[in-house]
Amino acid sequence: TPIIRVAIAGYGNLGRGAQAAIKQSPDMQLVCVFSRRDPASITLIDQSVPVYAMDDIAQYKDDIDVLILCGGSKSDLPEQGPALAGLFNIVDSFDTHAKIPEYFAALDIPAKQANKVAMLSVGWDPGLFSINRLYGEAILPVGETYTFWGKGLSQGHSDAVRRVDGVKSGVQYTLPSESAMARVRNGEQPTLSTREKHTRECYIVLADGADSDAVRNTIVTMPDYFADYDTKVHFIDQPTFEREHQKMPHGGFVIRSGVSGMDNEQNNQVLEFSLKLGSNPDFTSSVLVAYARAAYKMNLAGESGAKTVLDVAPSLLSPKSPAQLRKELL
Ligand code: NDP
Repeated sequence: TPIIRVAIAGYGNLGRGAQAAIKQSPDMQLVCVFSRRDPASITLIDQSVPVYAMDDIAQYKDDIDVLILCGGSKSDLPEQGPALAGLFNIVDSFDTHAKIPEYFAALDIPAKQANKVAMLSVGWDPGLFSINRLYGEAILPVGETYTFWGKGLSQGHSDAVRRVDGVKSGVQYTLPSESAMARVRNGEQPTLSTREKHTRECYIVLADGADSDAVRNTIVTMPDYFADYDTKVHFIDQPTFEREHQKMPHGGFVIRSGVSGMDNEQNNQVLEFSLKLGSNPDFTSSVLVAYARAAYKMNLAGESGAKTVLDVAPSLLSPKSPAQLRKELL
C-alpha cells in the first residue's frame, strides 16, 4: 500500500504533537506544515520538512492525501474548516460541544461538492469519550452516563487565577471527586451536583508583599470559576512552579451504570473508560493522526462529506489490514 501523504495546518501545541505522532506512523509521511505566520519565523521540532504560507495552500492540493487542522476551536477552525474542506480530506479537533451540529453542516456542503471527507471533532472529548458514551447507551439502554474530568490543567481557570491581584504565577487543576466516582462505580446511579463531582486545586506563586489570605479568598469566591466548587489553594515558590507545573496533564472517566435482566432478576452492569494523559495536546494529536488515516481510507472507498468519530469503523484507524487485525485482536 502507498504511503499516506499528510500535511499539518497550524503549528501550535497540536501541530507539534501531530508532527511527532506522524513520525511514529509507519504508513504516513509528513509532506509540509502550513502556518499563517511568516514561515521563516517557525521552528519545527523536526526540521526535515518545509513550512509554507497558509495563503498558498491551494497550490498543494494534489500533493496531500489528508490535511490535519491544528488551529484553535474558538476562531481558527470555524473559518479554516469550511474553506479547506473543499480542497482536501481534513481532520480537526473542534471542541465547542454546543456548536458541533452547526459546524458539521458548514463542512458537509463543501466536502460533498469536492468529493472529500471532512472529519470533525476528533480528540478525546469530544472524541474517544463520545464513542464510549455511545457504547454505554447502546449496550445498556437502561442506565445513566457519567463523565468526570481530571486530573487536568484547565487553561481558562489558570488564566483566571493569574489575573488575581497579588498572583505572580499560577495554575489550576480540576480533579474528579473520589467519593462521587466510588458511588457511580458501585452502581448507585446518584444525582450529583456540580460541587459533588469535581474539586479544584490552585498552585500559586505570590507577588512580593502580597497577602496570601486575601489572594485565597478572592480565588475561592470567584463567581462562575470557583464559587460553585470546593477549591484548595496551595502557595509555592517560583522554582517549584517552574519544576512541577509546566506540563499539560489531563484525562478523565466515562462511566455507564446500567441494569440488565427482567424486573425480578436484575444485574448491575458498569462500563468504564478512562484516560490519564501526561500531555493533553500530544494525546489529542495522536488521536487526530489515527483518524487522518481513517479519513483517507474512507475517501478512497468513495465516501465524502462531514464525519465524526461516531461514523468511523474501528479497523480503519489501524495501519494493519483487517485480516491481520482479526488474527491478532479477536
Ligand atoms: P495553540 O494555541 O497552541 O495553537 C492554535 C493555533 O495558534 C496554531 O495552529 C497556530 O496557527 C497559532 N499559534 C500557535 N503558537 C503561536 C504563537 N506563538 N504565536 C502566534 N500564533 C500561534 O492551541 P492548541 O494546539 O493547544 O489547541 C488547539 C485546539 O485543540 C484548541 O482550541 C482546542 O479546542 C482543541 N483541543 C481539542 C481536544 C479534544 O479532545 N477534542 C483536546 C485538546 C484541545 P498558525 O501556525 O497558523 O499561526
